[in-house]
Amino acid sequence: NGRDGLGAYIAEPETYPSNVVVNHNEDFVAIYDMFPKSSLHLLLLPRDPTKTRLHPFDAFEDAEFLTKVRTEVYKLRTLAAAELRRKYGKDSAQEQARQAALIADPAPEELPAGRDWEKEIMCGVHAVPSMNHLHVHVIAVDRYSERLKHRKHYNSFATPFFVPIEDFPLAEDDVRRHPTREGYLKSDFVCWRCGEKFGNKFTQLKEHLEREFEEWRRL
Ligand code: 5GP
Ligand code: ZN
Repeated sequence: NGRDGLGAYIAEPETYPSNVVVNHNEDFVAIYDMFPKSSLHLLLLPRDPTKTRLHPFDAFEDAEFLTKVRTEVYKLRTLAAAELRRKYGKDSAQEQARQAALIADPAPEELPAGRDWEKEIMCGVHAVPSMNHLHVHVIAVDRYSERLKHRKHYNSFATPFFVPIEDFPLAEDDVRRHPTREGYLKSDFVCWRCGEKFGNKFTQLKEHLEREFEEWRRL
């Protein structure tokens, strides 16, 4: 298994329960990340055998394929947003107002918009993936998870080591094509939400992330 561990989902998605494989079709398999680095962390796995072994930067040079992947990633993001709304939406005053308005059956234009949870989800790849099969992360921005145990876990989603799917195709001279793995993953911690700096103090970062999570989910 090891670095090839994602291959089994692509080969036989139908053999997994729905708390492992979110959904699948001929071309893609969506799964829950087994070691989630946020309160919600999914992976989209393209099944195209000519692409699944490629580095994402190379796979996404194919414009047609990139478009196809992006479309599917955004569908998964919509699903993920609905999941966040279910998990956290009830706590938000805005959502309560929306629910109350729904019960009162008002004209659609009177409905408060509700929180746009899609904005709270990042979609992208790691400049140096650790798993061999092509995969795109669809991950809530909170980075609040007990599985986030190492500095590289945080920094791989909080520095240019994480390359958003929106940024493809990368320019020829994009510095992220030549990632200084050590550089990005060893850089000082910066809170994703408020920008506070934590140097190399991981425990303090973790405590801060918990406080930020509590505020963020209720916003
Ligand atoms: P990478 O760093 O390669 O972009 O991310 C690979 C992701 O795959 C990581 O977030 C890791 O937690 C996840 N992962 C590793 N092995 C497995 C596995 O066997 N099953 C699932 N569902 N996720 C895995
Ligand atoms: Zn902060």
